[in-house]
Amino acid sequence: MPGYTTTVNVIFTGHQAQFVLDVTAACLPLYEEVFKVEYPLPKLDTLLAHDFEGAMEHWGLITGATQILLIDLIKSTQQEKVSVFHIQCHEIAHMWFGNITTMKWWDTLYLNEGFATLMGELIIPDRIHPEWRAGSEFVVGHFNRALNLDAKLSSHPVEVECPDANRINEMFDDLSYSKAGSVLRMLSHYVGADKFLEGVSLYLKAHLFGNAVTHDLWQGISAATGIDIAELMDDWITKIGYPVLTVTENVAGIHVRQDRFLETGPADPKDNETIWNIPLSLLSTEHGISSVDKAMVLREREATFVVDTTKPFKLNTGTKGVYRVLYTPKRLAKIATEAAQPKSVFSLDDRTGLLQDAFALSKAGFSTPSSSLTVVDLWRSEKEYVVWEGMAAGLDELVSIWWEDASVVENLKRFQRTLFVPLVERLGYEYSENDSRDRILLRTLAITQAAAADDKGVLQVLQAKFKRFLKTGNNSHIPAELQQVTYAVAVKFGGRVEYDTIVKIFELRRTPSEQKAASFAMGASQDLEIIHETTEFIVNKARDQDLIPLFAALSANFASRRAATQTFMQNYDTFYNRYKDQLSLGVLVSACLNYYSSQADYQAIETYFKVKDTSKYSHALAQSLDGIKARSAYVERATADILDWFHKNI
Ligand SMILES: [Zn+2]
Repeated sequence: MPGYTTTVNVIFTGHQAQFVLDVTAACLPLYEEVFKVEYPLPKLDTLLAHDFEGAMEHWGLITGATQILLIDLIKSTQQEKVSVFHIQCHEIAHMWFGNITTMKWWDTLYLNEGFATLMGELIIPDRIHPEWRAGSEFVVGHFNRALNLDAKLSSHPVEVECPDANRINEMFDDLSYSKAGSVLRMLSHYVGADKFLEGVSLYLKAHLFGNAVTHDLWQGISAATGIDIAELMDDWITKIGYPVLTVTENVAGIHVRQDRFLETGPADPKDNETIWNIPLSLLSTEHGISSVDKAMVLREREATFVVDTTKPFKLNTGTKGVYRVLYTPKRLAKIATEAAQPKSVFSLDDRTGLLQDAFALSKAGFSTPSSSLTVVDLWRSEKEYVVWEGMAAGLDELVSIWWEDASVVENLKRFQRTLFVPLVERLGYEYSENDSRDRILLRTLAITQAAAADDKGVLQVLQAKFKRFLKTGNNSHIPAELQQVTYAVAVKFGGRVEYDTIVKIFELRRTPSEQKAASFAMGASQDLEIIHETTEFIVNKARDQDLIPLFAALSANFASRRAATQTFMQNYDTFYNRYKDQLSLGVLVSACLNYYSSQADYQAIETYFKVKDTSKYSHALAQSLDGIKARSAYVERATADILDWFHKNI
């Protein structure tokens, strides 16, 4: 602010701390400008420490773990750079949302976390680095995570009762961060970004150094916009879940009906009572020109809207609304075909949203997986990295769900090879300074996907890179972007020498990027003896901060998935005592349980936890169990459909 100087410091030695300091210096003044509320302290420090969990804001001080905030920009990936930026920018946002204005009680934790997510991981980064496409990445990340988690029967409203201190840590889940951030993003789009921020500024000014509740926020945005925000938004914050809109067509236009979306299929009437006020954001076309109606809101269970359905149209333009849309198969095919055109009226974010809806609706039984596979097949000439990222995520999930069905897995891998190997052939393995960010990301994704799908040519190239490292002891020829996949392939298809080398790299802890790559590779072996060594390492040697990445790596590997769960269960008391006061206890539980797809596994896990005190992670456990139920129903219902599609198409 004019005439006011704030000093930013980072307390850590070494050049790897420079970036987080630069981020702080760049973001802090922008927040002051956007909120029109100055940062009132003479300094903002950042203290980095080993053996620390995540990052945390305090008044004038951000504390964070070295493995998530240190970065060597030469030896790290694009995604890691963005991640450090987002984490620090998120923590800086808390100086306003958490310190200058604080939620009254933990039930509205989202007023801190939802805002810090929206501001720190979308609005502010987008102003500093528009080339990072923070909006599109938000759809792939937070938005997708929120809709997947909130599709479970065991979900909870964003604003949820927090009766005692035991429950506080559980409030720090993706609903407080990702869903709240997504709901606020929808509101910002509906009222316009400038008006939204003006309202937020009014809210902060009205509660400077005080406490606030949801309606204080609505009041600020109502004052800026003249719209009754409480009436529009309350249900999105106080009610569980979100809707799926079923769109049918008639002579007048389209008929739209809303019901609560559940990943297990149509909701029972008792779970389907909320009628949300839904901004429809309808894109329609007239005389070859498309326009978006941002003011249109569905306020009833169902209604008809006038649209020329002979021309391209689509709801939820730009995937800003927190809901899914179910079209008829014929309409979905038309929209997907139109979206594949070079000058389509549908944007990159529209394509990403369509993909996510297609995969989620088929999982819930509203459509078939073959309809999602058809969309991916149709978009194999796609140019944009973000859409490829969405396609890869959708296919990866299918592989993971059908992990115990060799026939489905092999067909899916074959399909992945037809998609990603041509990309590898086009983009090569060399990273150049002149590459655009998207080209770098797409190359990394394509090589990683082709390797995961066991493409022999790609595996050979990566194995040769690792062999050269073994021979020379120098790994500088392995680009940072390919470090993780190279290490993982070396361990997966290698033996003792490769594994021991990776463990040494892990223990050296030279850079967070290299250590992360090594921890993923430590979980990649197919050899039971080596898998056992990794589980022993977890029990006896791993630091607290290593547990979740190592368990996640073992769970991602089909050969060690069951070993991960067994290790967790057999050493439950030790892990529980190490994590019981940490915010990520729920994440640890999910990392060990989330991946099963059968009734038998559901029952075994449910029985195991029946005698445990689960009060500190009850949400995470219920969400894991719901997930297993949905996946096992999906396998029972859709295996024939998937195999049939492959038989006919690939
Ligand atoms: Zn936060």
